[in-house]
Amino acid sequence: MRILTQIFIFITIFFMLHNLLIKAQLKSLNNMVSNKSNRKICIILVDGLRLDSIDYMPFLLNMIDCKKGVLYNSKCFPPTLSRPGYERIFTGSPTNINGITRNFHPIPSLIPDVFLLAKRSGYKTALSGYYWLLELFPYSFNYRYTYFNSDSKVFNRAINIIGDFNPDILLVHPMEVDKAGHRHGALSKEYKNSCKNIDKNIEYLWNHIKNKNYTLIVISDHGHRDEGGHGDDNKGCIEIPLIIIDNDIEKLNLIQKEWASQLDVAPTICDLLNIPKNSFMKGTSLIQINDNLAPDLVIDNSIIKLSSRFPLIFTGFAVFVSIIITKTFYYLKNLL
Ligand SMILES: [Zn+2]
Repeated sequence: MRILTQIFIFITIFFMLHNLLIKAQLKSLNNMVSNKSNRKICIILVDGLRLDSIDYMPFLLNMIDCKKGVLYNSKCFPPTLSRPGYERIFTGSPTNINGITRNFHPIPSLIPDVFLLAKRSGYKTALSGYYWLLELFPYSFNYRYTYFNSDSKVFNRAINIIGDFNPDILLVHPMEVDKAGHRHGALSKEYKNSCKNIDKNIEYLWNHIKNKNYTLIVISDHGHRDEGGHGDDNKGCIEIPLIIIDNDIEKLNLIQKEWASQLDVAPTICDLLNIPKNSFMKGTSLIQINDNLAPDLVIDNSIIKLSSRFPLIFTGFAVFVSIIITKTFYYLKNLL
């Protein structure tokens, strides 16, 4: 009976110690490999913005003209719907892999999105957007404002979030353009006016963040047919803009491409924040990495060697300390 009690005490102490040591190891490894970028990212997902609507957005056109912004003609894929579009953009995975095929099917994404990846790497993430994004990525945002009907506050809320929390990656998601497309068609005066209005809001937001080390990315989930509506492979639905704006855009080393894809956004964000990509991402980053190695692969070898020895050292240490504590316990008990 006495030997069984001794074994029980030994095992309890051993597992408690081992657990503590493993946690300490993970923490120290995290600190050693963390290579957080100073850059911050603000993504504006303009719902339902088709490629040729850039013509009604003077601020964005001006930024491109004065070489502070780069426009990529981009393509999305059928189904050209919102929820599948959000999933493609932020996980970098095509619909046949991620399985998000419909709008009215509110299941969470099964594939890690860039906000979750950033959060795991210690970045602060934030959302000011439509509630579908939260349904899709429920664990990805540290700070959030979501709306159900009117998106009139979405830019002001984004600015409040920046002032209050200083997020490293922020998603702003206005619906106004998409609504105008559905009601009046993509060639209508109303659609053009909503594009102009969003352009003004983007300028307003940019003026708040341009001196705070932010890179701005403007993207859309899908376009609209001339007569309004989307979902199929109509040219108006498929062709969307992708714009990257930065005060020092030369330093980003952006590659040139005749056509970019929605799937290129997630790997580009990973490179901008210097976080590891994953195998679900089927696009290519728009950032030219000079040394042929993605930044996430550049890890000091000595860290890997050291970490491979940790389990053996820790287990030995835990066994030794557990025996000493068990023996001491019985020694003191006998003395009493
Ligand atoms: Zn949409």
